[in-house]
Amino acid sequence: MKFSQNFTKTSKTVSAETESINAKLLTRAGFIYQELAGAYAFLPLGWRVIQNIESIVREEMDKIATELHLTSLSPRERWQATKRHDSVDVLMSTKAANEVALQKSTAEYILNPTHEDIITPIAKQYANSYKDLPFATYQIRTKFRNEARAKSGLLRGREFIMKDLYSFHTSEDNLKEFYEVAKERYIAVYEKLGLAKDTFITLASGGDFTKEYSHEFQTLLESGEDTIYLDRENKIAYNKEVATPEDAKKLGVDFNKLEEVKASEVGNIFPLGTKYSELLDYYYTDQDNTRHLVWMGSYGIGISRLMGVIAEKYHDDKGLVWPENVAPYKYHIIALPDTANIKAGEDIYKQLGEENCLFDDRADVSPGEKFGDADLIGIPNQIIISNKTLESDSVEFVDRATGKKEMIKISELTN
Ligand code: ATP
Ligand code: MG
Repeated sequence: MKFSQNFTKTSKTVSAETESINAKLLTRAGFIYQELAGAYAFLPLGWRVIQNIESIVREEMDKIATELHLTSLSPRERWQATKRHDSVDVLMSTKAANEVALQKSTAEYILNPTHEDIITPIAKQYANSYKDLPFATYQIRTKFRNEARAKSGLLRGREFIMKDLYSFHTSEDNLKEFYEVAKERYIAVYEKLGLAKDTFITLASGGDFTKEYSHEFQTLLESGEDTIYLDRENKIAYNKEVATPEDAKKLGVDFNKLEEVKASEVGNIFPLGTKYSELLDYYYTDQDNTRHLVWMGSYGIGISRLMGVIAEKYHDDKGLVWPENVAPYKYHIIALPDTANIKAGEDIYKQLGEENCLFDDRADVSPGEKFGDADLIGIPNQIIISNKTLESDSVEFVDRATGKKEMIKISELTN
C-alpha cells in the first residue's frame, strides 16, 4: 500500500480516556479506532494484523476441523434451553431501536457471547449415528459480551473476535484423545505468533461449562488481567480459581512455592463432557442401535485480544515493533522527499512486491516525520532511500527491532 492512499493518519496524542498501552499505541499508529468503550474498528493496517493472526490460527485449525460461520443473532429460546439465559452475566440482547422500527417488529434477539448453545442443536440435527462421529468444526467471528470493565483496549472488548471450535465424540476417551491433539495445535499457534516462550498451559476450573479442569493458555504480561501461579521449571501454571487448599491436595502441588505472575488469557479449552448433550437431549445410536449421549469439547482463542497482547509485548518508546509473522507489511519503504527518491521507491515497491510493502511516497512530509511514522507503525524492515544512498545505487536497510543499519545495493534487494 502507498502511504498516500492510506486514509488514516498517525497522531501524537490520544484521548485521555485511553488507558492501556495497546490502545494508545494502536490508536496513535492508525491501526484501530475506538467506537465506544470496548468496541474498536480495525482500520486498514490493523485489519491486516488481524488477518495475519487469523491465517495462523486457520492454518492450524484446518488440520483438525472444518470451518463454518454461525450467526451472531439467536432466539432467546436457544439460551433458555441450556438454562443459561438467566445465568450468563455478560449476555446481551438486541431489539428494534425506535418507534417506527418497533412497529415493524418487536422481536428481540440474543447477541451470542459464545456458541455452544447454538452449535449443539445444529449438530443434533445432522450427526446422530456413530458413523457421523467424531467431528469438529470451528469459526472465527465477532462475539458480544456485556463486560463490566472495558478499559484494557483490545484485551477486553464488549465486541471482539474469537476463534471457537467445537468437537463431538462417541466416548470420553475419544474426546480426551482429540483434546490432546487440539492442545498441540494451540501450542503451534502460539509458537507461530512468537508468544510460545511466554505462554503457559494453566489449569483452571471448568467454570460455566464443566466440573473438570479446563486449560487456559496464559501469556505472561505485566498489564494482563489475570493472576496465575507459575511453575516455570515444569512449564505449567495454575489459575487463581484452582489455587485452593482443596485443589492443591488433588493436584499434589504446594501453591506457596509457585511464582505469582500477571498474565492474559489468550486461549481456553474445555472438556464439556455431556453437559450440553444432556440439556439438549443429544444422543447418537451405536452399531447395535443403542442410544448414548454425545461427548463434547469447546476450544477458544482470543484473536483480537492476541493483537492487543502482541502490541503490549512488542513495542519500545518509539512505537510498535511487530514480529514478522503478524506485521501488516514486511517492508516499510521510506523515500525521502525528492522526485528521484520517490521514483526509486516506486521501482523498489514493485521489485519487492506491492503486497509486502508500505511505501511512504509522500512528497510533502519531512524526513523526520517519515522516520517517526515508520517507528510508530513498527513494520520490521525499513528501507530508506535518499539522494545519498542513491549515489551508490543503494538503500539503507534498518531493522526496526534492533536498530541495526546496513547499506544494501538495490539490485541485491530481494524479497
Ligand atoms: P476472561 O476470563 O478473560 O473474561 P473468558 O474465560 O470468559 O475470558 P472464554 O469464554 O474462555 O473467555 O473465551 C475464549 C477466549 O476468548 C479467551 O481465552 C480470550 O482469549 C478471549 N476473550 C474472552 N473474552 C474476551 C473479551 N471480552 N475481549 C477479548 N477477548 C476475549
Ligand atoms: Mg476462559
